[in-house]
Formats: sequence, C-alpha cells, structure tokens
Amino acid sequence: MAKKKQRKPKRSPKIYQFYEIKEGKITRKAQFCPKCSAGVFMAKRPDTWYCGKCHYVERIEKK
Ligand SMILES: [Zn+2]
Repeated sequence: MAKKKQRKPKRSPKIYQFYEIKEGKITRKAQFCPKCSAGVFMAKRPDTWYCGKCHYVERIEKK
C-alpha cells in the first residue's frame, strides 16, 4: 500500500460533516432518510431528524 499523506482541506465537503473517522472506523453522525434512498442525510435538530428532501420528520428517542 502506498503511503499517502493526510491532507486537511480548508473547507471540507459537505458530506464530511456527517462522517467521523475514529480509529479507522467510519461513524455516521447523521442518519439516512427512510423515505428517500440511502444517501439522503437527515438534518439533526434538537429532538428530531429532518429530511430536507421529502420533509420527513423523525423523533429522536432519548435514552
Ligand atoms: Zn427524505
């Protein structure tokens, strides 16, 4: 495997807001809309997930 230097872009693409890499594992911070196809992220609100595409709202259940 080629060694690649990690570059930190000044402005990260929008999609990266939803991913977090921890110990080599990619964690999704946002969830996909169940009504739209996978790949459509929902925006997180204090207690709901909101899909900007189909306006679907899902409650976030707190533990
Ligand atoms: Zn949707």
